Amino acid sequence: MTIQLFTPNFRVDECLLEIKECLEKGWTGLGFKTNEIEERWKDYSGFEHAHFLSSATAGLHLALDIYKREYHWNDGDEVISSPFTFVSTNHAIKYCNLTPVFADIDEYLCLDPESVRSRITEKTRAVIFVGIGGNVGRYEDIRKLCHEHNLILILDAAHMAGTRLNTKHIGLDADVSVFSFQAVKNLPTADSGMICFKEQKFDSQARILSWLGIDKDTFARSSNQGAYKWRYDVKEVGYKYHGNSIMASLALVGLKYLDQDNGYRRTIANWYTELLENVDGISIVKMAPNSECSQHLFQVRVNNRDMVLEKMNASDIFPGVHYADNTLYDPYRQSSKLCPQARIASDEVVSLPMHMGLVRDDVEYVAQVLIQAVSSEL
Ligand SMILES: *Cc1c(COP(=O)(O)O)cnc(C)c1O
Repeated sequence: MTIQLFTPNFRVDECLLEIKECLEKGWTGLGFKTNEIEERWKDYSGFEHAHFLSSATAGLHLALDIYKREYHWNDGDEVISSPFTFVSTNHAIKYCNLTPVFADIDEYLCLDPESVRSRITEKTRAVIFVGIGGNVGRYEDIRKLCHEHNLILILDAAHMAGTRLNTKHIGLDADVSVFSFQAVKNLPTADSGMICFKEQKFDSQARILSWLGIDKDTFARSSNQGAYKWRYDVKEVGYKYHGNSIMASLALVGLKYLDQDNGYRRTIANWYTELLENVDGISIVKMAPNSECSQHLFQVRVNNRDMVLEKMNASDIFPGVHYADNTLYDPYRQSSKLCPQARIASDEVVSLPMHMGLVRDDVEYVAQVLIQAVSSEL
């Protein structure tokens, strides 16, 4: 039997019922289920504002775009980010003609506050914190640092649906948090995401900009309704970034089971920990204290990682790598060597299989194959 890194478990009948409602109503696009998922997500998480989008990549772009307009940032202004992330995080900075400035990571694989501090200049406008695998890392220190230096804090929460810090959902105190409900995230749809601004006015702007700059409300409020229902105003060049009701249908079902599923992920993580701690050549990436992690990933670090992966593949186990140092890629190559810890981690990390389909026997088998592969490389 093959064991993949991630296999989504859709509650097929429940998903089909939600989708059936869309089809019967003839409403598959924006509105209807997209409104419902926004309300349910706010109830679940405690965010005051939430706008359902086509992806987290779109959300990160939208966030930076909105702040750049609002605060009159210049082209080339700096956003401190991590080279140890999915490229979306850093592409979003470039979409806005801003400059990603990389800070190094700590033992949680998240931004190291001291490194972030050392990267702050006159041109720094924002910091993007990425919670790798759902890990909170030193988010609190980064938040304080941003406050101290008057920097916008953007939380790339693509892995963090359901992560809590001191019993509250992560991100409530960030300027904006962006979640991904992409096909292989811990709340999978096919492609969608959620953007949660702290401020009402940015949420309103996001709704307009995610639908090409169309402002329906201007005319809805005027007395010219009735025969003029087709009328709308466009004040800015926006994007086509809003979510649709089919994706929202899948998210609504996933959200109902999010805590239960994340709980099972943590059980799997505890099994891995029990089997792998104190094994020579394997170090487990720890989760930050005082937090309840979505456990999107369970990561270990090993030497000769690529060989270890090949050996595991030969036993039909297919772990993942999150992530390769982004400075290995052309668009970011000029920043290489600035973040040695990220480069080392990039060569060592392995994400072990983590999904609802795994049972204790699978986890034992993965651990056993990993231990064998690592000991043959020692
Ligand atoms: C997946 C991911 C994204 C992008 O999410 P999409 O919804 O696929 O656009 C952004 N950041 C991180 C850290 C991710 O893992």
